[in-house]
Amino acid sequence: MKYVYFFGAGKADGTGDMKNVLGGKGAGLAEMTRIGLPVPAGFTITTEACDYFLQHGKKYPKELKAEVKKHLTRLEKLTGKKLGDANDPLLVSVRSGSARSMPGMMETILNLGLNEKSVEGLARATKNERFAYDSYRRFVQMYSSVVIGLPKEGLEARLRAMKNYLGVKDDTQVTAQGWRQLVGEYKAYFKEKTGKNFPEDPEEQLWGAIGAVFDSWMGEKAVTYRRVEKITGLLGTAVNVVQMVFGNTGEESGTGVCFTRDPSTGEKTFFGDFLLNAQGEDVVAGIRTPVPLKELEKGMPKVYKQLEGVRQKLEKHYHDMQDMEFTVESGKLYMLQTRTGKRTAAAAFRMAVDMTNEKLIKVEEALQRISSDDIERLFYPVLDPKLARNEVASRKFAEGINAVPGAAVGKAVFTAEEAEKWAARGDKVVLVRRETSPEDVGGMYVAQGILTATGGKTSHAAVVARGWGKCCIVGAEKIDIDASGKKMTAGGKVVKEGDWISLDGGDGAVYTGAFELQRPEPPPAYEILMKWADKVRKLGVRTNADTPHDSRLARAMGAEGIGLCRTEHMFFKDFEHPEKSIERQEAIQEMILAETPEARRTALAKLLPFQRRDFIGIFEAMNGLPVTIRLIDPPLHEFVPHDPAKQAELAKKIGISPEAVARRVAQLHESNPMLGHRGCRLCITYPEILEMQVRAIIEAAIDCKKRGIKVLPEIMHPLVLEKRELKILEVATRRVADEIISQSKVNLEYLVGTMIELPRAALLAGQIAEVAEFFSFGTNDLTQTTMGLSRDDAGRFLPEYVDQAKAAIFKSDPFQTLDADGVGMLINWAIKNGRATRPKLKIGICGEHGGDAESVKFCHTAGMNYVSASPFRVPIARLAAAQAVIEENLARKKKK
Ligand code: PEP
Ligand code: MG
Repeated sequence: MKYVYFFGAGKADGTGDMKNVLGGKGAGLAEMTRIGLPVPAGFTITTEACDYFLQHGKKYPKELKAEVKKHLTRLEKLTGKKLGDANDPLLVSVRSGSARSMPGMMETILNLGLNEKSVEGLARATKNERFAYDSYRRFVQMYSSVVIGLPKEGLEARLRAMKNYLGVKDDTQVTAQGWRQLVGEYKAYFKEKTGKNFPEDPEEQLWGAIGAVFDSWMGEKAVTYRRVEKITGLLGTAVNVVQMVFGNTGEESGTGVCFTRDPSTGEKTFFGDFLLNAQGEDVVAGIRTPVPLKELEKGMPKVYKQLEGVRQKLEKHYHDMQDMEFTVESGKLYMLQTRTGKRTAAAAFRMAVDMTNEKLIKVEEALQRISSDDIERLFYPVLDPKLARNEVASRKFAEGINAVPGAAVGKAVFTAEEAEKWAARGDKVVLVRRETSPEDVGGMYVAQGILTATGGKTSHAAVVARGWGKCCIVGAEKIDIDASGKKMTAGGKVVKEGDWISLDGGDGAVYTGAFELQRPEPPPAYEILMKWADKVRKLGVRTNADTPHDSRLARAMGAEGIGLCRTEHMFFKDFEHPEKSIERQEAIQEMILAETPEARRTALAKLLPFQRRDFIGIFEAMNGLPVTIRLIDPPLHEFVPHDPAKQAELAKKIGISPEAVARRVAQLHESNPMLGHRGCRLCITYPEILEMQVRAIIEAAIDCKKRGIKVLPEIMHPLVLEKRELKILEVATRRVADEIISQSKVNLEYLVGTMIELPRAALLAGQIAEVAEFFSFGTNDLTQTTMGLSRDDAGRFLPEYVDQAKAAIFKSDPFQTLDADGVGMLINWAIKNGRATRPKLKIGICGEHGGDAESVKFCHTAGMNYVSASPFRVPIARLAAAQAVIEENLARKKKK
């Protein structure tokens, strides 16, 4: 097995598509070398070597030592320099890099190869003693903390003491002599802590660094990051050993990070940060606030032009926006990294559409580039634009750089641990830090938003937050943060831990107090891309909506009908006149408490006008699109009060004794209400309910039709388990409906169908289809009943089943993503047998899975006619349905 891949002088052993083996960084370096970009030479040790190392008690594969030696020699030959040489030595960086970008989560060691001899060589060769010793002390410091694990604080205390002794404030004021002295102190500390001398032998240094990078794959922050990002199935990290280039040799040098397009807006402008006379880590760590790339254009126009060329070449080559790191050493440009850049949701849409129009990619590719997360993130809240201006202005606390748009409202906390603690208690928090480091990733994840006092748009905080679409403001330099005192101050105002603050990631403003948030209008590129998706997809997309308001919203989101209208919600709440909800609640309670069918009919008669009015509103909103209305589903105990005071109140209102109410409520008690007297079983025993509901639906439809509004009602019976059961309901439904229709003399068509929510119904679907004109898979209940997992309580232990670091029994939560193996088998069986009976059987899904991208793809393959999702998930379903077609075509092509 080959464990080491070389790159340099225009040639590379590896290629850009070997990310799994070389990691993202290694693959990018190889590919950039191949296409003739200025990349310092080096070699990559594969993720397979890391895997071996971690699997074999930290032992390297046998052949690795010799392979590394061979490539090191090759590197020395190519550069004409030798590691540890007393004259002009070769120095290398040793960097991590896995197949998936994990910004800052693993280790890096710079300036490796320096020792007492070679540091003098470096000083002579660069004629810069101060630079040589500054590099040396950085190396000793990094090596001691990263490879050996000496406490950072012990090292930093020595740096502070030395500056105090010299009477200087900034690192830049320290002389060569000062750095030399510090190296001595670090080494003494090293000896004191480890009992050994700091390694002088460069090869020993190199192997120490390689081991430390491999080890960092299992470090706490890397493990946490993979957990929250759901990164699984990778072998480990690769190690890149690359010739050092220096951005800190003077005013002709510097380092930066740039993007081929603006990662916040997607605009086609060159975007980035640059730090003059600095090493790369300074930009990413956010220690110093860098300047925009424009400054580079002014200060070093030649280098800027060359970088602009690299930008164009890389985008053409990768067909996607790239995120690059570069260093300028004494006026010469070097590319140190390229990878597909993280972007905001709005930018993702804009770039996908722009790149298609620029003919860089095809429509199918554009559609594949957008994920359901992007769509969700697009609708993340922003500050309500209607807020009073003077109110907004008076609450302004500070300003920073708007690194990730959106808005966040939460209680201020000043450490990642506190953020996690508060969030676990259910508090919304905004994490405030001077700068974030990878250790903070857990706290950043649970926070609503992130605010830092230092850093630019490419700092660690910004990069990580952008990946999550989380509002982030960086470089708010006027804020004085006192993390141990749990407070921050700016312009005379103080914010203490637990005080509410609001962030506006749109313009970088920070406010005291909690502002109202609103959903934003999506950008033009969103509409364009969704139209492309609609052209490609074959599945219909409907919505789950119970109110005219939701119906209108869902239509605006692209819904082509209602797949599930849960009528019982109308018994609880009057959505148009919430203050009148009590009237409905009392009527349904009276119906439930009634002791005779007559009394029940009287109570139901009160509900009829409410339901009719609601249906009219929904039919109007859906004007001509199909509307599936499900008859009452939940067990009746959900509608009645359980505490004695409320029961007494109700008894008084309807004129029966409190004991009678209590008795009836007790009667309704069930041990397993989810498996009890619910669903269509209610209408089997209380046909009066069916009569009222069907009447409300049909009368509403006729009312609309008479006014020229097209209606397509589909009456749906839930929780059916048997053909005979559905037959009784179908006969009753048609009797009521047909009588009203014939009296009205209006020509109204309607369908009668069923939900498939029980395994038995799925198994006997062939028989049920003799009666049902349509099926709608209620996969919430079907998952619950197939798996024997309670949809209400399984959350207590399911996370362990899903956690890939724990039991890893499921890949994902079966209530979110359809269990294609088990529940999916029942669905496929039901579709096959249902259509065998009734070839034109209309089939959809209305469980929550209808808004989950992976499940939608399953529904496409299963041959359903449509999926139904909650209004805000409708666009996710539209896109996933298009992606299903594209993926199917790709798979077919591959087979050929
Ligand atoms: C279902 O069970 O999937 C369904 C849509 O019905 P409900 O969630 O109302 O039980
Ligand atoms: Mg159900």
